[in-house]
Amino acid sequence: MSPRERAYRTEAVVLRRHELGEADRLMTILTPHYGKLRVVAKGVRRPRSRKAGHLELFTRAQLLLARGRELDIVTQAESADTFPTLQTDLNRLAHAAYAVELLDCFAVAEEENRPLYRLLVDTLARLDQGSDPGLVTRFFEVRLLDLAGFQPQLFECRSCAAETRPEDQYFSFEAGGVLCPNCGAQQRAVRRLSLGGLKVLRHFQRNTFEAVVGLKLGAAVQRELETLMEGYLTFVLERRLHTPEFIQRVRALLPATIPIEATPEA
Ligand SMILES: [Zn+2]
Repeated sequence: MSPRERAYRTEAVVLRRHELGEADRLMTILTPHYGKLRVVAKGVRRPRSRKAGHLELFTRAQLLLARGRELDIVTQAESADTFPTLQTDLNRLAHAAYAVELLDCFAVAEEENRPLYRLLVDTLARLDQGSDPGLVTRFFEVRLLDLAGFQPQLFECRSCAAETRPEDQYFSFEAGGVLCPNCGAQQRAVRRLSLGGLKVLRHFQRNTFEAVVGLKLGAAVQRELETLMEGYLTFVLERRLHTPEFIQRVRALLPATIPIEATPEA
């Protein structure tokens, strides 16, 4: 976009919205070309606004924006995908909110990042279309860490560089990956990483979603990886995340499901 251009078109996903004045909304959106943007949608809270239904949270839309003095202004909006299941299924919504919160933390304002945008759209679609929310979310975390330059080392010990053997390991947030049983046992600020958990993370690092979607994660591995990844992401971001608590609250409301105790062959 040249700085002189008065208007531009972009696809975008709505990450956050705040009410502004009487009828406007301040929105944080993610775009493929311009990165994360803060924009204003005027009059969108009026009952007859033509833009309103196209700018819901997490909606993917085609926008026409006009350059403003401080913030750009949405002049037209047409939703391309509203991900309807996310609006009706609280558990899927909570996982989408978590993915969006993480992405919001990592995305850079006004900096093109197509892979990051693609990852967000794919993740919302997967959550919307019925894939296991836990599996979708763990895969998202692994991919997001790759794109953000924090891919954890899972193939050799971060301390002695010995090749990782098929046994339980330790994981160090500070070192950014696995520590072998020898090195890990001598450190205090480390987590345990089971062989099952290690296999899943490695499998996610090396494969496409299509290749991992059939995986049935056991309840114990799910819990282990959920805690580990949340801890690692919080460490990397140096801030507390809000949405994991939302997921826990929703989970407490859901009927208990029978855990599937199969482990992957990764
Ligand atoms: Zn070691």
